[in-house]
Amino acid sequence: MMTIKSDYEIELMRRAGEIVGNTHKYLVQFIKPGITTKELNDLAEKFILKSGATPSFKNLYGFPGAICISINEEVVHGIPGKRKLKDGDIVKLDIGACYQGYHGDSAWSYPVGKVSSEAVRLLEQTEEALNQGLSVIHAGVHVGNIGYAVEQYAKKHHLGVVKELVGHGIGTKVHEDPDVPNFGQKGTGPVLKEGMTIAVEPMLNLGTAEVYMLEDDWTIVTGDNQQSAHFEHTILVTKDGYEILTKR
Ligand code: MG
Ligand code: MG
Repeated sequence: MMTIKSDYEIELMRRAGEIVGNTHKYLVQFIKPGITTKELNDLAEKFILKSGATPSFKNLYGFPGAICISINEEVVHGIPGKRKLKDGDIVKLDIGACYQGYHGDSAWSYPVGKVSSEAVRLLEQTEEALNQGLSVIHAGVHVGNIGYAVEQYAKKHHLGVVKELVGHGIGTKVHEDPDVPNFGQKGTGPVLKEGMTIAVEPMLNLGTAEVYMLEDDWTIVTGDNQQSAHFEHTILVTKDGYEILTKR
């Protein structure tokens, strides 16, 4: 069921989103070679708790971390652990925070030290793909238009579009209707209405679009081990456009 949020609910979602954005801003200073993903996870969890929220992903479907941390060929759902960041890595932090029952969700991809020119291109173009997807949003638009915008941009730049994972409605649950795929056709899919809140989150790969799951039953990796990037904002659909709730 797709829900329309009241003004009061939107205020809570703004605060949840703000906490997620602030957590990203806070973590940037720690993204350096040598830090473990568990250390990043614990810093994030403390920051979210101190902000009066709880980490949305902790125990969500049984996920063992507070946030998802995925490196290089890991697309999403990486479990924080002993792995240390290395110079040249791309690290993706996917952060959710729940404030008074409402969730914000934003993933961002960061270079660690000096990364390859291909990695720089992947980061820039995946962030731009998110912007392209957001740019078509307003009340009355079909969800398919978002996917179309993301996919066309990715194709133009020869990046693989991950299709197995999609954006989503968000509110009192992290994952609500509708699905928001990063591919599609204009004029198809549900119609967005003013007051809906959704997460738009392109996952683009330097190589193949294919992905598979590791034996930990969580981590999704690219089929050819090439790097992947992920950028995500939670937004509010407005009459004439959208408002980013997870500003950073
Ligand atoms: Mg996310
Ligand atoms: Mg999401």
